[in-house]
Amino acid sequence: MSEQVNSDLMSKVVALCKRRGIIFQSSEIYGGINGFWDYGPNGAPLRRNIEQLWWRHMVEMRDNVVGIESTIICHPRVWHASGHVEQFCDMMIDCMECKRRYRSDQLENPNQCPDCGSKKMTEPREFNLMMKTYVGPVFDEEHAAYLRAESCQPIFVNFNTVRNTSRQKIPFGIAQTGKAFRNEINPRFFTFRSREFTQMEMEFFCREEESMEWYEYWRGERWKFYTRELGIAEDKLRWKPHENLAHYAKAAVDIEYLFPFGWGEIEGIHHRGTYDMMRHAEYSGQEQDCKVFDQETRESYYPTVVETSCGLDRICLMMLCDAYHEDLAETRKEGMDEDERVVMRFPANVAPVQVAILPLSKKLSEPAGKLRELLSLCFRTDFDDAGSIGRRYRRQDEVGTPFCVTYDFDSQDDGCVTVRDRDSMEQERIAVNELTVWLLDKL
Ligand code: ATP
Repeated sequence: MSEQVNSDLMSKVVALCKRRGIIFQSSEIYGGINGFWDYGPNGAPLRRNIEQLWWRHMVEMRDNVVGIESTIICHPRVWHASGHVEQFCDMMIDCMECKRRYRSDQLENPNQCPDCGSKKMTEPREFNLMMKTYVGPVFDEEHAAYLRAESCQPIFVNFNTVRNTSRQKIPFGIAQTGKAFRNEINPRFFTFRSREFTQMEMEFFCREEESMEWYEYWRGERWKFYTRELGIAEDKLRWKPHENLAHYAKAAVDIEYLFPFGWGEIEGIHHRGTYDMMRHAEYSGQEQDCKVFDQETRESYYPTVVETSCGLDRICLMMLCDAYHEDLAETRKEGMDEDERVVMRFPANVAPVQVAILPLSKKLSEPAGKLRELLSLCFRTDFDDAGSIGRRYRRQDEVGTPFCVTYDFDSQDDGCVTVRDRDSMEQERIAVNELTVWLLDKL
């Protein structure tokens, strides 16, 4: 995290998310639970649209990547092989007085509690970030299992089954999106560091000799995803090479976004060597399932893995921060011509609602409802007949709806509606029977 902090923008985004049912605390009526967040009626579609866009970009548009959907709980040995059970730890110090727990590398003085000032502090102790549960009726170590800490391990474990059944040959990739769980010590920055979150990962299996070429290729593809598909400006993104490479890795880099609280990682692109496949061969004893056979040399070898790994919730947060704008809009409020408006400038491909249908009067709800039905065949729509038209525009602006279609008393006679553009706020009269084509063109 860096110096440039805009906590004002962050609190505005958090407040908007709550006000408009985008994201709010999980189990709020019980006071919430730290590090867990729910997505509401405007957040769930945003999240889903981004996930679908990723799936389309990474799986559906390619013939050398296939998708899977694995379980959250795997055989516990998977997490021993991956190193998570032994190494996925932070060093923690507890205050014996106020019982607060701190990451030792984040304490200025490890001998004094920054909250209560007590000097009764424990020695640094390892704290594992894996979430544990029990499978079956007996709650003992033999039945212990873990919620996955990353979604990629099941990909490695399923490698050969997927390769055989999809008739893929090296080089090819396996992708999946799904929940991951980490008992983060300090969940913070809204959803940025959560304890339950969704990852979108792709593991690309190739020959060692070609691996750096593929690494460069995937770096390029992932950059394009953010700048072209999601429309993020290049100066809000940066590459951050890893300072300490894992011993088996040839290269690793993060893509960071300039959040209101500073630069933060949204994705990692990692060269993982043959490490994962060798570890699973060793721990499972099924070497043949972790190797591929080379027809030319008549030998089996471990494929090298290049990974792209991003967090859906962090991308959603990036989109929310990036979309948030305040400007001035015409108002009918007494004594004012213009009033401040909040507008979310989401790209149309991820906006929760693409077209809102607003009958000018409740008396027009029936024909306007029919228009909504028609437009729903092609677009994500919303229907709102409550309150003044100005207020309805404001509501749609706050959830980032690119177009509002007003159905008025003239519409029944002239067969036209007024379409208002979210960003320019310009209004245009369009014939209903040309509306779908007009909107398809714009969206
Ligand atoms: P960080 O250093 O921020 O903890 P990481 O390097 O541990 O992240 P990875 O293990 O590489 O993260 O996970 C890949 C992606 O998963 C990250 O780029 C991020 O988008 C997402 N991610 C990881 N941890 C969290 C979390 N606690 N909450 C939300 N998203 C997360």
